[in-house]
Amino acid sequence: MKALTYRGPGRRLWAEVPDPAPTDPEDAIVRVDAATICGTDLHILHGDVPEVAEGRILGHEAVGTVVETGPGVRTVAAGDRVLVSCISACGRCASCREAAYGQCTGGGGWILGHLVDGTQAEFVRTPFADNSLHRLPAGITDEAALMLADILPTSFEVGVRNGRVGPGDTVVVVGAGPVGLATIATARLYSPARIIAVDLAESRRKAAGRAGADSALSPDDVERAAADGLGRDGRGADVAIEAVGLPETFELCTRLVRPGGRVANVGVHGRSATLHLEDLWIRNLTITTGLVDTSSTPLLLDMLAAGRLSTGDLVTHRFGLDEMQDGYDVFADPARTGALKVAFFRT
Ligand code: NAD
Ligand code: ZN
Repeated sequence: MKALTYRGPGRRLWAEVPDPAPTDPEDAIVRVDAATICGTDLHILHGDVPEVAEGRILGHEAVGTVVETGPGVRTVAAGDRVLVSCISACGRCASCREAAYGQCTGGGGWILGHLVDGTQAEFVRTPFADNSLHRLPAGITDEAALMLADILPTSFEVGVRNGRVGPGDTVVVVGAGPVGLATIATARLYSPARIIAVDLAESRRKAAGRAGADSALSPDDVERAAADGLGRDGRGADVAIEAVGLPETFELCTRLVRPGGRVANVGVHGRSATLHLEDLWIRNLTITTGLVDTSSTPLLLDMLAAGRLSTGDLVTHRFGLDEMQDGYDVFADPARTGALKVAFFRT
């Protein structure tokens, strides 16, 4: 088969590789019908993430059709149309029993495309298939389902639920990339009074408006709005969700929330933010962080099927699977291309 392979920092190649086969009784082989690229793939590709072997197949977001299952797989069978979760976990260990799949100690907890081969290929081996594959209802398109492989559970679990977004809240989402936009979409499930998006890029602020933000501001403008009084009683936002991954945006979040407010960090930080505990403690702030678990995927799928959740127009560019190289160029340069999510489809 063909697959997009890692060839050392910054180098990738769509190349012929051996077809995957089950190596464990709980494996399934999935024919990839659609796949996307995530910012994390760029981190892996650039060599920022340790332990990526040369030849590793990249990618952790896909929708496909099961073609083969090991003898231990019970919940999916050949022919099933499935969503492949970005995290593959055993489902049985102490962490998995708490739905913390990202912390699995039973031999999983991987993001596909890092220590095991990923989804940017014609076929993918999915370990712990019962826990990592989700059968798709007929009414959900491949393109909508793709958004549930990573960015919707990430934003919902690490942003919205950790930040305890509630009815009537004022919610600020800093960063309106795919993850920030998915945060806006999933925050709305809890009926906040208002959602304010913050981004440096005007194109991303416009996308935030389309995703359902009530207003979209630059970082300077949101600081001015905060000085004038944000939220129900002017004391600040109830929740600020960081979806960039920079010290300055994390620190901005801590300034925007009211006393007793919540800051939910979603961004992956390469440089450390300074936690000004001398200021944060006296304002009773709650700060949370986390890696996506994907334990919310069945619930999000139900809401998508019921029409309660929209994945909006996150996919801006579509290619064939064999055009993966070109798709990466488009995705890696959003200022030039206007890309949000770039999706690949089997033709
Ligand atoms: P992205 O790069 O597409 O989006 C980031 C956005 O932040 C961009 O729109 C950019 O214009 C904006 N931005 C940059 N600097 C800014 C600043 N100073 N002020 C305001 N806006 C600024 O990234 P994404 O794919 O949406 O992902 C967002 C973050 O979430 C990344 O750090 C990613 O690694 C992380 N992530 C975390 C998890 C998790 O499990 N916690 C999972 C997936 C992604
Ligand atoms: Zn991802």
